[in-house]
Amino acid sequence: MKTIIGNWKMYVGVRESVALARGMLYALRGKKIVPHVVICPSFVALSDVRKIITRSHVALGAQDMFWEETGAYTGEISSRMLSELAVSYVLIGHSERRHSLGETDEMIGKKVQQVFRSGMTPVLCVGETAEERAQGKTQEIVEQQLHQDFAGVEYPPASELFIAYEPRWAIGTGMAATPQDAVVMHQSIRGWVKEIFPSIRDEQIHVLYGGSVDGANAYAFLREKEIDGVLVGGASVKLTLMQEVLSAAIEAMEGEAHQSS
Ligand code: PEP
Repeated sequence: MKTIIGNWKMYVGVRESVALARGMLYALRGKKIVPHVVICPSFVALSDVRKIITRSHVALGAQDMFWEETGAYTGEISSRMLSELAVSYVLIGHSERRHSLGETDEMIGKKVQQVFRSGMTPVLCVGETAEERAQGKTQEIVEQQLHQDFAGVEYPPASELFIAYEPRWAIGTGMAATPQDAVVMHQSIRGWVKEIFPSIRDEQIHVLYGGSVDGANAYAFLREKEIDGVLVGGASVKLTLMQEVLSAAIEAMEGEAHQSS
């Protein structure tokens, strides 16, 4: 199974979000093999998008969440609020929040813990900057992020865990990593996650690639066994591009089914 997550960032309001959700359902209609799709609209569109995707295979995700359940935290959104809207996935530690909004590993760790506590599934985003990559520190940085973000986090035994490897230099730049580089990172990420949570089973870990994925390059990532899916930002708010990404996922899954038969 491949997972496709659409991060609609702050690109679209309620009306466009509803239209996008409808378009995605239409693109999946009648397909025999369907990827696991999660869409992450802005907070203000969650409620309306939820109505569109109820009783479909598409799941609802949020782009962030605060670590306390209730209290005097003006402007923040809690797990309880998201649960009321049937949100089941939450992006945590997106590079735009780490780098533009000063989110620290400590804050990210508290958010991951709260996502687990509330029974939702975190999609933890990790990745190096262009400078760190140029210094040959990619592996070191991502390993450090995982250790710091999961420090003290109790892993609920039945939970799923999604990690999105998203090099910062690839996000929104049109310069995606190569599938080969992503595969190497994904193998390392799996190993580190297993070190951190020794009781986690292989099938509970899903490692996705994100960073300038679109209809033209999605298949090259999705055909790789080690790449469990893609997290798509800019292209996910352009319906034709997202339809191409979904078709690429279906093609990759058909290939997998063919190989195992
Ligand atoms: C993202 O927002 O997580 C992302 C990968 O963005 P883009 O696809 O636009 O690079």
